[in-house]
Amino acid sequence: MKIILLGAPGSGKGTISEHIIANHNFIHLSTGNIFRKRMDEKGLYWEELNNYMLKGKLVPDDLVNKIVKSELLNYSPKQSYILDGYPRTIEQAEFLSTITDVDCAIYLDVPETVLEKRLTGRRICTQCKKIYNVYFSPPKNDGICDIENAVLSQRKDDDPTVIKERLQLYKESTMPLIDYYANKNLLVTIFGDKSKESINKEVDELIAKFSK
Ligand code: AMP
Repeated sequence: MKIILLGAPGSGKGTISEHIIANHNFIHLSTGNIFRKRMDEKGLYWEELNNYMLKGKLVPDDLVNKIVKSELLNYSPKQSYILDGYPRTIEQAEFLSTITDVDCAIYLDVPETVLEKRLTGRRICTQCKKIYNVYFSPPKNDGICDIENAVLSQRKDDDPTVIKERLQLYKESTMPLIDYYANKNLLVTIFGDKSKESINKEVDELIAKFSK
């Protein structure tokens, strides 16, 4: 099964992905994570990626498509995966359709006021990458991961000015994908401002439906 996760920055794509990979036999392919890893390790194209990401700009389609295609080549075509943060433009969706079929596109619908708090409050464990939020799901001890006891960090692009730019770009470039996948009868909308448990339940039911 191939799932696309669509949603604004802060809509909970990473959190849903954590649940899916912990409970189902899926691989998580997040373009944001792939790019951040390349930047940390100074891997292929890291300077270009750094340039776009720190400003909250979208990485050009050609480069993103090339990186995604090479990542997908690491897996058997039968492998189930979640594409998180890709595609983000119609051009990327068109490219994706030339390399694989997808079973559904889950759209996480979250009000903008909630998105802003989720992004400014987001903290990530520097070791296990668990995601916290200082407003909604804080760690037991300020700034420290409950599991690893490691320091929590904030993404550089979760800065208020950059957040504005990312939300604006999401509206302009990514929202058209909602209609794009709806027209292909692949869209499943989940209201994302609910408890984690209730969202996870909906996702589990969806995966069970497709697995029959
Ligand atoms: P994310 O972790 O998904 O919020 O992505 C972080 C940043 O990586 C975005 O703000 C973009 O700069 C870049 N990025 C991630 N995925 C894509 C994509 N599919 N197309 C263009 N840029 C992307």
